[in-house]
Amino acid sequence: MVSTQSTTGPRIESHNPATGEVIGSVPVMDEAEVRERVQRARKAQEGWVALDHRERARQLLRVQDWLAANARTIAERLSAETGKPRFDSLLHEVTASCELIKTLSREAPKVLAPTRVSSGLLLTKKAWKVYEPHGVIGVISPWNFPLTLAMSPTVTALYAGNAVVLKPSEVTPLVGDIVAEAFTAAEVHPDVVQVLSGDGSTGAALVHAGVDKIAFTGSTRTGKKIMAAAAETLTPVVMELGGKDPMVVCADADIENAAAGAVWAGFANSGQICMSIERVYVPEAVHDRFVDAVVERTEALRQGVDSDEHPVDVGAMIAPTQAAIVEAHIADARDKGAEVLTGGVRRSDLGGDFFAPTVLTGCTHDMDIVNEETFGPVLPIVKVRDEDEAVRLANDSRYGLTASVWTANRAKGERIARELKAGSVLINDHITVYAITELPFGGIKESGFGRVHGVEGLLEFARPKSVVLERLPQVNRLLWFPYPKAGFDVAARATGFLYRTNPVDKVKALLGL
Ligand code: NAD
Repeated sequence: MVSTQSTTGPRIESHNPATGEVIGSVPVMDEAEVRERVQRARKAQEGWVALDHRERARQLLRVQDWLAANARTIAERLSAETGKPRFDSLLHEVTASCELIKTLSREAPKVLAPTRVSSGLLLTKKAWKVYEPHGVIGVISPWNFPLTLAMSPTVTALYAGNAVVLKPSEVTPLVGDIVAEAFTAAEVHPDVVQVLSGDGSTGAALVHAGVDKIAFTGSTRTGKKIMAAAAETLTPVVMELGGKDPMVVCADADIENAAAGAVWAGFANSGQICMSIERVYVPEAVHDRFVDAVVERTEALRQGVDSDEHPVDVGAMIAPTQAAIVEAHIADARDKGAEVLTGGVRRSDLGGDFFAPTVLTGCTHDMDIVNEETFGPVLPIVKVRDEDEAVRLANDSRYGLTASVWTANRAKGERIARELKAGSVLINDHITVYAITELPFGGIKESGFGRVHGVEGLLEFARPKSVVLERLPQVNRLLWFPYPKAGFDVAARATGFLYRTNPVDKVKALLGL
């Protein structure tokens, strides 16, 4: 069994935010236990890296198979811990994890294969690079997509030959059981994936426990703390942090489609997605039409506890603390002149931590709701003169995770996509970049650095090692001591011949002219 259990110390309760029901509890693991888990993972990594790529892929495909076979119950378990609709849990968590494993099984052997390179001037040498794992990767994950964001760095690190010690969020700790069950069912060596349980103190202990790299997904605030702690041991980090994604609506956009897109990408998962639309810029020419369409669609959303009899679009927020941030941002925006057109209140009548999907107009760049990550079901709309102003304001942010532009003109969409400062830009869509697992995903500015997915994501977990073979050892002696008498002159002529760019100059250099 991949072990998640500890017998001593305080425990954390897990709640269903849609009902308030306590659904389980886990121990808070301390520093000694974390260190012990890292050591076990290090030992197991020696056996894991000794397997060839095909065998590692075979074992990880069994994880994919188990997830797919149990998709319904896993989605239900995830929804019980997060309060999100089961459709979200299924597609954005189970399906997304399966898709990544499938892509990695195909791509990892190619990307990580030894690669021959030119030896340049050194004709008698053979040169190549190989990729080696870092060793043990510490994965620290958040609650908003508890399975996807635990699985994604974990399986990528495993494909590259690392072992993993995973610390899921204390807000959704039971996801640790799902991860552990998946690797146990797949008969991956029990110690290769260690699943911890605990809060920020357990995460901090993991950073100090001698891991070889940290893959962190979470808030910018915590990311900065982890980076400072990792600097003490020069432990490398991947930082997937917060966002404040802008949506730029052009005057020529299909307004109904843009409004439907804004409502989906603003309110899916109750707006608790790092790449939720968190700011909308709309030219005055189409502003009112867009706002009307957004409000109409927002008021048609079904919110509550999801079930077969009563499927819903929008679920609960993760916790009252998260709803309090939303309320504070809305209050600040109202004080500074914004108008709430719909929503703006908690829905305690629904029985759990629900917040009504909210549309605000009259928003400006002096408001928290436009500057700070809200992470809730709110669409703040900013009226702009034209698209140029929209792009300028969209780029006026300390975040840069993803962004989108909405237009009927493809050339314009591609131009604005180049102008928007973000790790990913979508044209006439939002969020779905994450589902294309061959595309690198990650942020710029305070949204972090490093990438998951794609070749770049795999290479985060592999160290290149350069190897050089001298095929004619005696050739070296021509360049070693003692340096030949005419060596300097010959080398100077050869350098001129090889690197002057004009053919006449080349010949002159060779002749020493
Ligand atoms: P968080 O930063 O509060 O917590 C994330 C994890 O860090 C948790 O497991 C927590 O226990 C751990 N942690 C807390 N303090 C720590 C410390 N000092 N040392 C080590 N670990 C510590 O984030 P959250 O509230 O769980 O998640 C929401 C945030 O995550 C949002 O800002 C969201 O934008 C971001 N996010 C980013 C991405 C991305 O890919 N860029 C994806 C999802 C979520």
